[in-house]
Amino acid sequence: MSQEVRVRFAPSPTGPLHIGGVRTALFNYLFAKKHKGTFILRIEDTDQNRYVPGAEQYIIDALNWCGIPFDEGIGKEGNFGPYRQSERKESYKKYALELIEKGAAYYAFDTAQELNEARATAESQKKNFIYNHTTRDQFTNSLTLTPEEVQQRLDNGEDYVIRFKPQIKNLGLFDEIRKGIQIDTSLLDDKILFKSDGMPTYHLANVVDDHNMQITHVIRGEEWLPSMALHVLLYESFGWQIPSFAHLPLILKPTGKGKLSKRDGAKFGFPVFPLEWHDDKENETFNGYREDGYLPSAVINMLAFLGWNPGTEQELFNLDELIEQFDLSQVNSSGAKFDPDKAKWFQQQY
Ligand code: GLU
Repeated sequence: MSQEVRVRFAPSPTGPLHIGGVRTALFNYLFAKKHKGTFILRIEDTDQNRYVPGAEQYIIDALNWCGIPFDEGIGKEGNFGPYRQSERKESYKKYALELIEKGAAYYAFDTAQELNEARATAESQKKNFIYNHTTRDQFTNSLTLTPEEVQQRLDNGEDYVIRFKPQIKNLGLFDEIRKGIQIDTSLLDDKILFKSDGMPTYHLANVVDDHNMQITHVIRGEEWLPSMALHVLLYESFGWQIPSFAHLPLILKPTGKGKLSKRDGAKFGFPVFPLEWHDDKENETFNGYREDGYLPSAVINMLAFLGWNPGTEQELFNLDELIEQFDLSQVNSSGAKFDPDKAKWFQQQY
């Protein structure tokens, strides 16, 4: 790889880090170390309604406990904190305005009531509510208003959002794990990029930060695969270099039916969080160790096998061996079933 590898783990601090998140962090870490690159932690905290105090500290402590600390952040070397989107919030608006300038985004002034009514109408017709080129004319957006009308509404202090206007085409995407995917962008929604509360949405902030932090590989959970088309279109609209994408397979319940949930941990007797987290309504917090005796090496080893296949019979790996062996081409595209017996077996080995 000629360019320096830069990857990021970008959790939202909405609660303790679930095993799916730790697996994402681990695969990013392994990939970075294998290629002598940089592993960044970015806290995506632009949605203040979902913010849980203590979650950020939990994430940092969990990564340290697992032995996979991040390499770069804000502050002095050796004593830095993660990047936080809330601390960069002023910087995003100019990017939304740049897209308006380029004709790739627009102001929309619809009220919550108007949108709820449109949603209810679509529902009564058993259709999906979709705000895009097929319906946007019926809404209050700057594409149907004259520039003077838009300015007047802005001057009046009316609430607005900024929506993306995707270019309509057949878009070819490439995911390192899923391989080629074709998307008809005429089916996409005009996603909101900038909210009426003055905050960017996840989509805008995520793409802007990945670009500014010179991220070369976006490695994240499969739940973000449906957003990949929008993100690639955003890169294209800005005229930015598109990073490589790799969407990791879902972690499934031991039965193979459905996503592994927090409750499955207690049910099947294995850790779904790297550290203990005690829900405390006043002050959500964690106590910083595992009460069930699982060791970091066992957790790391068990996580590595969730979706990754070393291609050999070897089952026990220390972190250095994982770094050496890890390759995105050996990550499966199908869901990874959690096996509690295997988890216990790993624990007994350490
Ligand atoms: N903030 C998103 C999350 O909580 C990050 C998605 C991404 O890595 O792009 O999972």
